[in-house]
Parts: sequence; C-alpha cells; structure tokens
Amino acid sequence: MSIPALRQPNLTKKDHEKTPFKLIPDKRDFFIVTLKGGKKLVVSSDAYHGILTAGGFYRCVFCESEMVLDILCKERHKSSQNHRKILENYPHVEEYKENLIRKITASTNYCTVCNVIVLSHFLQKHVLAEAHIKELNKALTRAESYKERISQSDEYPPLSNYNKNKI
Ligand SMILES: [Zn+2]
Ligand SMILES: [Zn+2]
Repeated sequence: MSIPALRQPNLTKKDHEKTPFKLIPDKRDFFIVTLKGGKKLVVSSDAYHGILTAGGFYRCVFCESEMVLDILCKERHKSSQNHRKILENYPHVEEYKENLIRKITASTNYCTVCNVIVLSHFLQKHVLAEAHIKELNKALTRAESYKERISQSDEYPPLSNYNKNKI
C-alpha cells in the first residue's frame, strides 16, 4: 500500500515538470529557414544542423563527428562554436533554392529538407523525387502553422496550457 502512495505524488510532480519542458523544445526543435524573397520553410533543428541518427549514434555530417545517442550531447554539439563555424562553410546552394541543398564534397551533398546525404549524380533526381517533394511541402506547410502557433501563443501564453494541465 505504501508504494502506490509514494508513487502518486511523484507522478503529479512529474506532470507539472513536464509542462514547461514540452513548450521549450517545441520551439527549439524546429528551425525557420527564410529564403531570398521571403519564402519560409520550417525544418527540424537536427535536419538544419546536419545531424543524422545512424547505427546507434548521432552523426554530424559537416563536422564528421559521432556522438552517443544523448540529446544533451547533441544539443551541445549544435550550439558549439566549432560546429557553427563549420556549418557556415556549407551554405545552401543558391541554384537549388527551397530544396535546401548543402554541398559537402564534389560527390556528396546534404538535403536539409529530407535530412539525408545525396550523391551528386543523384541530386537532380532527388529534388524531383516524390519523397523529397513530399518533405518539401511539409516544410512549407509547417511554416504556415508555425506562424499560427506563434501568434496563438502570443495571445494565449503557455499559461492557458499550464492551467489546463493543473486542473
Ligand atoms: Zn557539427
Ligand atoms: Zn530531399
């Protein structure tokens, strides 16, 4: 009997703790890319930074470094000076516009929209492929709902959510 009694307050506390945390990653996990001309795409922050999940590791395609599957470790990498500097050397190629292609080497590219590495001789095919177009449309649609969400949260700050959970 004493075990459930102890557990219950723990769970309640956790629920309260979860509320503010849920709101913060929501905003940080996405990244708005504004193109020349004002077109906006919203991609995941990992996709923007070139973080892939492969073989039980997080891998940064630009720094060529691998990290254990630890969110803190990954976030630290993304905000590190070193990574940011390296990322600057791989701007989105202008001719591909909203397809958000970064050139890694002569033979490899990174598609921010799909969060994948694409070989150069497949690149034309990739940006015309259904899977890529689907992701691209998602990123464009997300930009619309992202705007709505921001204006909504301005009007009704996290408080309304918090109260709902509290009750
Ligand atoms: Zn990196
Ligand atoms: Zn793609």
